[in-house]
Amino acid sequence: MVSPTCPKCGRVIPSDDINVANDVAYCRNCNLAHKLSSLARAAELETGIDLSNPPAGAWQQQDGMGTIIGATHRSLGAALGLLAVSLFWNGIVSVFVSLASASTLHLLDLPVPAWFPAPIMNDSPMGMGMTIFLWLFLTPFIAIGVGMICALLLTLAGGTEVSMNRFEASVFTGIGPIGYRRRFDPQAVTDVRIDDQRWRDSDGDYRRKTCILIETREGKKLKFGSGLTEERRRFVAASLRKALLGRVA
Ligand SMILES: [Zn+2]
Repeated sequence: MVSPTCPKCGRVIPSDDINVANDVAYCRNCNLAHKLSSLARAAELETGIDLSNPPAGAWQQQDGMGTIIGATHRSLGAALGLLAVSLFWNGIVSVFVSLASASTLHLLDLPVPAWFPAPIMNDSPMGMGMTIFLWLFLTPFIAIGVGMICALLLTLAGGTEVSMNRFEASVFTGIGPIGYRRRFDPQAVTDVRIDDQRWRDSDGDYRRKTCILIETREGKKLKFGSGLTEERRRFVAASLRKALLGRVA
């Protein structure tokens, strides 16, 4: 096992100050107790990663304003998979959407495009109640379809970027300027690690979601980067850990 180092001061913690049973590693220099398991994960995170040489699609920039660490979500394999799934899903949903649209236009006495399906259900024209019911019934299916298209766009052109200076920091996920930003206090960060969740879904299948987790002193947890490839995610996580926890006291 790699000897754990204190994330605050970077010194190796001697084995006398490690209590495996209680999962504690104590740094005398900083008078801080760390979780041994978290330090071990950190040591594992940093092995084999050259922080000065980011993999393709990842970056770390430093200027007078602060540090920016990020990576693109671009992945051809994932994009092709999502394209197939969203074509299939939205293809089926669009049949019902055009039926509901045709019935709506018909009820409003508006011209119905010739290529729309006839608004007929059970051999009779659809009434107002049936049309409203169909729209309500379709809403969650349309929402899922839109979500799939957003995921596809993120996979084609999205990215995750963390910008920070001494006093403020934020995580941005999105495409160009469109996306969402979450702020956190860089001074309050206690841990940065890769979080690997496995669970069984309602069908009993094993599912897995891996992301980067930033934990702060107040117990706030920020998760992001699940859309990154493993190589980029590891680089971003290791660089962030160094930038947020590795400052020499
Ligand atoms: Zn220390």
